[in-house]
Amino acid sequence: MIVVMKIDASEGNGEAIFSRLSALGLRGQKVVGVQRQVIAVLGQVFPELRDELSTMDGVDEVIRISKPYKLASREVHEQDTVIQLSHGVKVGGGHPVVMAGPCAIETEEQLYASARGVRAAGAHILRGGAFKPRSSPYSFQGLGVPGLKLLRACGDELGMPVITELLSVRDVNAVAEYSDILQIGARNMQNFVLLEEAGKTGKPVLLKRGMGATIEEWLLAAEYILSQGNPNVMLCERGIRTFETATRNTLDLNAVAVAKRLSHLPVISDPSHGTGHWYLVRPLSLASMAVGADGLEIEVHPQPDHALSDGAQSLTPANFAQLMAEVGSLCNAIGRPLAAPQPALA
Ligand code: PEP
Ligand code: MN
Repeated sequence: MIVVMKIDASEGNGEAIFSRLSALGLRGQKVVGVQRQVIAVLGQVFPELRDELSTMDGVDEVIRISKPYKLASREVHEQDTVIQLSHGVKVGGGHPVVMAGPCAIETEEQLYASARGVRAAGAHILRGGAFKPRSSPYSFQGLGVPGLKLLRACGDELGMPVITELLSVRDVNAVAEYSDILQIGARNMQNFVLLEEAGKTGKPVLLKRGMGATIEEWLLAAEYILSQGNPNVMLCERGIRTFETATRNTLDLNAVAVAKRLSHLPVISDPSHGTGHWYLVRPLSLASMAVGADGLEIEVHPQPDHALSDGAQSLTPANFAQLMAEVGSLCNAIGRPLAAPQPALA
């Protein structure tokens, strides 16, 4: 942290800063310039110190040097984090992976039709919501625990790790029991109690970016999970709210590249929620891989026109297979081939 003093700051103003720093167990290092002086703060600073020092007499501004998130930052952890899942699937560090399946688990038939389709097309991880965060309380809310059981059974039968949303602290034990990855949805990105509880399970967590969250807020949210001693966190960009109405959200591909630069955590892109339209999922999947995403999360429904949630953005299994072929070619072309598909079932 650097304290920039005003041009007309007095000697006494500088001394007051030094004595405050020493009372806090910190040290100051004065640099005298032609017009003004700056004081470098040395030692373990805390977030509120910036506010405190900014209000002191003679201070012009206080500039932060280190990132406010430590565990999520590449400053302290240079190598990409690689998360090991069941069935030999790894997220991060090399070969991109694809998570796919229905927005919501509706019936056993619907889940299996989607799961078989995405597996045959080369998806690595099966997604499906059992607890759904719906804008209207009158919309389908998900099957709850019976949905979790169907997802677990389907993943086991098809040899795929599964991911599902953890909507509330109420459901932590159930979701952690049945799912390989806990998804924290965009609406809960800053539900700090939920983040801590998800962290405590030790299970891999996929943290979606809030629709109005900055990249720094997103990384600080990841820090809540990491600070519980759980290193298995992946980030997911799923589109933010902008003035644009042609699409449901604006998939922020800048954020994918920025998060990859700032953090060692795997970054997944979700072009389904990021666009809201099935016909935009393919081009934005290709773009996501081109900017360096570690994987994709995509909604696939056997009959999108009958889906109980997010039908407009869901791909048919046939369209998903076409997408996988194109994503596979693009990944080969850029020298980051997709992870091998799961072996054929007996
Ligand atoms: C979902 O994955 O179905 C979902 C609800 O996502 P988000 O939290 O990004 O809206
Ligand atoms: Mn959805």
